[in-house]
Amino acid sequence: MKLREAKVVVVGAGGLGCPALQYLAAAGIGTLGIVDHDVVDLSNLQRQILHREKRIGELKAESAASAIREINSSIIAQVHPVTLTSLNARDILSQYDVILDCTDNAPVRYLLSDSAVALGKPLVSGAAMKYDGQLCTYNLQPNGPCYRCIFPKPPAPELIGSCEDSGILGAVTGIVGTLQALQTIKLITGQHEQNASLLLFSALGMPPFRSVRLRQKRENCPACGASDGRAGAIEETDYVAFCGGNQPNWEARGLLPGPTGSRMTPFEVQTALSHAQWTILDVRSRAEFSICHLKDSINIPLQELAHDIPPTLPLGPVVVVCRLGNDSQIAASRLREARSDGENERIIVDMIGGLREWSKDVDPLFPVY
Ligand SMILES: [Zn+2]
Repeated sequence: MKLREAKVVVVGAGGLGCPALQYLAAAGIGTLGIVDHDVVDLSNLQRQILHREKRIGELKAESAASAIREINSSIIAQVHPVTLTSLNARDILSQYDVILDCTDNAPVRYLLSDSAVALGKPLVSGAAMKYDGQLCTYNLQPNGPCYRCIFPKPPAPELIGSCEDSGILGAVTGIVGTLQALQTIKLITGQHEQNASLLLFSALGMPPFRSVRLRQKRENCPACGASDGRAGAIEETDYVAFCGGNQPNWEARGLLPGPTGSRMTPFEVQTALSHAQWTILDVRSRAEFSICHLKDSINIPLQELAHDIPPTLPLGPVVVVCRLGNDSQIAASRLREARSDGENERIIVDMIGGLREWSKDVDPLFPVY
């Protein structure tokens, strides 16, 4: 039986990995590898459906492995509780026939794609953010594109998601993860059409699914193209640097405190508020704002801040706040660029560390979320 002999590795035991593992286990895949270095957190449970309240604090890879053993006790569940890096990827992934990308981070996506090319294995890749999801199987033989063929350059770090977690509707990851399991089962049983396409899902779209036919691999792709240049270079590649670093590089973007002082700590903000007529501009979503906000602050979500000063913003100095202090830097920079000649003197700063830091340093009663 093909499914029982198959060996599949799922990288990421989170929102996508859990539903994928669940259906792969139920389908009777013989060996399932689980790669995840993280531990189960309460905030995971709305979408990472293999984890349980009683397992909070345990390794996700262990938690997921015990959950799938409960579904199917004959499964060999191999746990890899590590961060996948260019140094260990080949060793881990080479043990399996099909690789599932269930991660949410750009460096690992490129690392997985390059490794899949080097090892000649199909890569079933899923992604989800907010209401939208994507599914694609890369490196299909003989001519399927790899991830680099379609996305040669990583997106700017600030577009990948902001303020730690852009939020995800759990059912969206359920749909995409389940589709990843389906693609994998089709590959193993020889029922896959072997044509590469990118499936786009939007929970709010009508129709919710769209499929984009993908071209064959690019001849000049640095990973899978004719030159075959990268196959041996994975170990030497710094994937995090390739994707712009762990955190957006604010310094390079000119957003860190300069001589003009464009940022303030929560303490400095508190002092400033008591002396002058500052406006506090909160750029979080309306939903987050309605949960909690600073007294007298006004709310304009970052997405609605176009490249001019909103008419609702009172005159005088402005301090921009958000949850963790990243979106507020983008917003402050946008507002500074938007100042008209008459407004050049207007002070626009952002609060370092966001409202989370505010509740730590200034007001312990301010809700942390
Ligand atoms: Zn390629």
